[in-house]
Amino acid sequence: MVDADQTFVIVGGGLAGAKAAETLRTEGFTGRVILICDERDHPYERPPLSKGYLLGKEERDSVFVHEPAWYARHDVELHLGQTVDAIDRAARTVRFGDDGTTVHYDKLLLATGAEPRRLDVPGTDLAGVHHLRRLAHSERLKGVLSSLGRDNGHLVIAGAGWIGLEIAAAARQYGAEVTVVHRGQTPLHSVLGPELGQLFADLHHEHGVRFHFGATLTGITGQDGMVLAARTDDGEEHPAHAVLAAIGAAPRVALAEAAGLELADPAAGGGVLVDERLRTSDPDVYAAGDVASFPHGVFGTRLRVEHWANALNGGPAAARSMLGREERYDRVPYFFSDQYDLGMEYSGWAPPGSYDQVVIRGDAGKRQFIAFWVKEGHVLAGMNVNVWDVTGPIQGMIRSRQPVDTEALGDPHVPLESLVARTS
Ligand SMILES: Cc1cc2nc3c(=O)[nH]c(=O)nc-3n(C[C@H](O)[C@H](O)[C@H](O)COP(=O)(O)OP(=O)(O)OC[C@H]3O[C@@H](n4cnc5c(N)ncnc54)[C@H](O)[C@@H]3O)c2cc1C
Repeated sequence: MVDADQTFVIVGGGLAGAKAAETLRTEGFTGRVILICDERDHPYERPPLSKGYLLGKEERDSVFVHEPAWYARHDVELHLGQTVDAIDRAARTVRFGDDGTTVHYDKLLLATGAEPRRLDVPGTDLAGVHHLRRLAHSERLKGVLSSLGRDNGHLVIAGAGWIGLEIAAAARQYGAEVTVVHRGQTPLHSVLGPELGQLFADLHHEHGVRFHFGATLTGITGQDGMVLAARTDDGEEHPAHAVLAAIGAAPRVALAEAAGLELADPAAGGGVLVDERLRTSDPDVYAAGDVASFPHGVFGTRLRVEHWANALNGGPAAARSMLGREERYDRVPYFFSDQYDLGMEYSGWAPPGSYDQVVIRGDAGKRQFIAFWVKEGHVLAGMNVNVWDVTGPIQGMIRSRQPVDTEALGDPHVPLESLVARTS
């Protein structure tokens, strides 16, 4: 067991950082645990910021990872509203806060997450241009959407990824007019490919969202801080009273980079390079959550996963690793989304080009089905849409890496569990 007089420091108080602190305590670590975060709010979960909380269906208190008193009760020293601006790996210290407080670490976890990519076009400094990552952004957006709904206003969203689409759904539920500008020909192309991306385009069309595919935003015009219109590279001008930039997120690697830690290739998603135990190129420094690029045994490639479950499980895995446990982190990537009355879960990893077939099990027309992305009979990923309690067998098939009978896979009368049993 690790010494009781050791100090473990966690940089970043998102889900990964908070869950790592919790795990250190539940695993019996009795040394100092210091959690430093540049946000003023206690660690919270982000999925409700574009769903229930944004829609006013969930209370503010419900988004927090732990109740505020939990940290003191578990002797976790919390420094909120303080940025870590330097790591000295030779001295094993981090520096944080306006007064440059320095603290020693025996083990350090980087859970610095990601930040929204900014639009690099004229007009992005207008007050009516928004992005969404933090609780305060969601609260501001909630006010914007409800006034757009009230005044029949227009929201232009740049990007048809998960956040862009979830905000489109929320905005329509508030009654705002919505146009989504997207570079590709279908939403979510880089995750779902064209086949299933179309399903989301149809869903949003039915709810009155306008799409402008194959275009990028080139400028936002306005007056006195107010947005008036958004221009695209094909010369079109879309009326807009507010613009949301939802063009992806970038891992927050500046601190790691300045400390000389090895980074992953930006072309492969970037992030802080870690091994299967979430250790960086420095054996006393670990990384988890959105910022970490780890080698995935099942897919045979490095992945950087920007999803809730990866923070939920990766933070604890890093904590156990810091305690010296020999554990490989190889969870099958998993995420979920809710848009209107469509709820879905996706497990696996199957970007366009990696699969040769999409097998549908169930009724895609009624939006109640499971889609499987398959390569030479091997299931790479599965998405259940308005079908529940199937994540176990889907992940079992992915993990087994055994070929499956694709006819049986597409047949709802063949129990999914029986296919896993046959393949593992
Ligand atoms: C609006 C929204 C909706 C989402 N919905 C879903 C969903 O439906 N399903 C799903 O699977 N995933 C969803 N996600 C993704 C999921 O929330 C993220 O994967 C998860 O938050 C990652 O957690 P993390 O702890 O790694 O990073 P973060 O949550 O980004 O936390 C990192 C924290 O570290 C802080 N920090 C960074 N650098 C420093 C520094 N130098 N000093 C001090 N503090 C620092 C940051 O400010 C931040 O508070 C959503 C994300 C957003 C933004």
